Amino acid sequence: MGTIVCQTCEATIAYFEDEKVTTLYGKCDCCGHDREDGEEKE
Ligand SMILES: [Zn+2]
Repeated sequence: MGTIVCQTCEATIAYFEDEKVTTLYGKCDCCGHDREDGEEKE
C-alpha cells in the first residue's frame, strides 16, 4: 500500500494501492492552496 504524505506538515493525505510500501510527498489542503480543484479519490 502506498501513502501520500504532506511534505509540509507531514499529514497523511491519501492512500493508494501499490504492490509494495511506498511513500509519496505532496501537499494537503491546508498547505497547498495553489490549486482549487477538489480531488476526491480514495
Ligand atoms: Zn500540510
